[in-house]
Amino acid sequence: MSEISQPSKAKFSHPKGLYVLFAAEMWERFSYYGMRAILILFMTTEVVREGLGLSTETAGAVYGLYTACVYLMTLPGGWLADNVFGQRKAIFYGGVLIMIGHLVLAIPGSPAIFFVGLGFVALGTGLLKGNISTLVGELYANEDGAKRDAGFSIFYMGINLGSFFGQIFVPLLAEYNWHLGFGLAALGMLLGLIVYKVYSPKHLKDIGIEPKVKYQESTGKSNKWVSMAILAGVVMLLGILQAVGAIDVTTATGIAKALGIIIVLITMGYFLNILFNGGLNVIEKKKVAIIFILFVGIAIFWSGFEQAASSLNLFARDFTDRFIGGWEMPAGMLQSFNSAFIIIFAPIVGALWVKLAARNINVRTPFKFAIGLILLGLGFLVMVGAAQIAANGAKAGMFALILTYFLHSIGELTISPVGLSATSKLSPSKYLGQMMGIWFVGAALGNLIAGLVGGNFDPENVLEMPNIFMNVVWVSVGAGIIFFAASPFIKKWMGDVT
Ligand code: GLN
Repeated sequence: MSEISQPSKAKFSHPKGLYVLFAAEMWERFSYYGMRAILILFMTTEVVREGLGLSTETAGAVYGLYTACVYLMTLPGGWLADNVFGQRKAIFYGGVLIMIGHLVLAIPGSPAIFFVGLGFVALGTGLLKGNISTLVGELYANEDGAKRDAGFSIFYMGINLGSFFGQIFVPLLAEYNWHLGFGLAALGMLLGLIVYKVYSPKHLKDIGIEPKVKYQESTGKSNKWVSMAILAGVVMLLGILQAVGAIDVTTATGIAKALGIIIVLITMGYFLNILFNGGLNVIEKKKVAIIFILFVGIAIFWSGFEQAASSLNLFARDFTDRFIGGWEMPAGMLQSFNSAFIIIFAPIVGALWVKLAARNINVRTPFKFAIGLILLGLGFLVMVGAAQIAANGAKAGMFALILTYFLHSIGELTISPVGLSATSKLSPSKYLGQMMGIWFVGAALGNLIAGLVGGNFDPENVLEMPNIFMNVVWVSVGAGIIFFAASPFIKKWMGDVT
């Protein structure tokens, strides 16, 4: 693509606004991933050692609820930007809320205060995260696809650069005092806000200033009665599950399970509504059905991948030998390998697809989903081995987690950017915003499950551990094989989208 056309300076120079958004998002991710790296460790540490002293089960559920809400909030966040604030203000307000959230976390206090802090971060991220990506897209509104893709790749580097340093410095400080770690996350967000406030008027000019639609009616004939019926059905089902004791919504785990059920049912209802009432032709309907299949795939992927900060983080703390010479690496820091691998391998994996395409080997989306899911499973297979070492009473080497993160990172590169771009291309244009939202709902569901699975991780019951990881292997490899087997059919329904 880009190498065929004539290279010119304009072709390779990106709008300066990209670097403003790059820096803002870098610091936001510094704070998000930095804090997340110590979150479950802080929650499960005994009160005498200044943690919250929660059980692994409760902490896992809180982790799942928090990270799910972060991604779910991008839906109202996007709506508020489109209808009320415009992206520019939404991002700024989001950053301020995030900073306040981390500052609240930096105050030592009761779990209640702590949950308020988490709430602020989730609300703020909802306003910031999706809208900042939207602005990146708008910088390239009049550019060709290749340059736009390159812009997004640079932006993704910013995300991972921020995550990398956040996952190094926040856990390092947290070794001395948890709240110093949270405070550093607040400082990171403050730096992001300053860069954004100072440089955006000049470099972003007027993009994202005005809300795009003023309280626009939702597109399509989404039937209000259908939505009400779905909601009533969900409430009834939850009531029944509560009554028969299948869930207990007075506990964090119960609330997390209830949220999972709500997300699954509402998403299914949403898709059915669009398919039957959305005014789509047959080809469009087939493409929307494929978006649903990709949604399931990405949710399964994140449900394993996002255990990096739940079960894998606990494994790093309790069962991994983290000594390098006489220095013991803080457990949370191991997650920075994911970001480092992404920074190193993103250009390589990107170039590989281009090279293969030049040889007429077009690796299509469902096949890439299969590869990503299988790599995820292989990563957990490594963890089964490591857990067996722990079950035998020894500590696993750091190499196990690093290899797992390597496999997961290559999986992330195979599935995440590809799925996002396929979703945007498959979506009927009037539903584009909503389908992008669905993508974040997939991340929310995955994160929620990652928390719940992490909650099963019981440091007291080491013998169970290989089984927990093995179950993830079965699910992800199984899903990968299904994608592989279904790929001829998926390809057909995708039509002209690759
Ligand atoms: N690591 C990426 C980010 O923070 C993707 C995360 C996700 O979509 N779950 O943007």
